[in-house]
Amino acid sequence: MASSPLSERLGRLFRLQDLDIMIREAQDPAVKKSEEEMGFRLQALEKLQGAREKLAETIDKRDLRLYERIAKKHDHGIVPVEERICLGCYMSLPTSAVPLTATPEHLLTCENCGRILYWLE
Ligand SMILES: [Zn+2]
Repeated sequence: MASSPLSERLGRLFRLQDLDIMIREAQDPAVKKSEEEMGFRLQALEKLQGAREKLAETIDKRDLRLYERIAKKHDHGIVPVEERICLGCYMSLPTSAVPLTATPEHLLTCENCGRILYWLE
């Protein structure tokens, strides 16, 4: 598992994050819907949760733990870096932070906000 390329690991976490956002939206009580729509939403929610479970099984356990920890605090736990600025919290990263491709064992996280980082290019 640890040997999966980083881009693949990040891709899975991204899909997980997408599903989590959709699940949250589907559960949002503030969005008022008709009875019929509610039934449809409930079905959709079950499908989303099923898809999330399946996806989670394919994710490296360490990556999953890291993601779950961050997802509790932030809606978007995976954020891009541009010109050494974490676009989650807008703090600059230390020069020791190198693009993910250079550190195959660990996903990089922001020292300030803890989010998982990825380089835009
Ligand atoms: Zn940050």
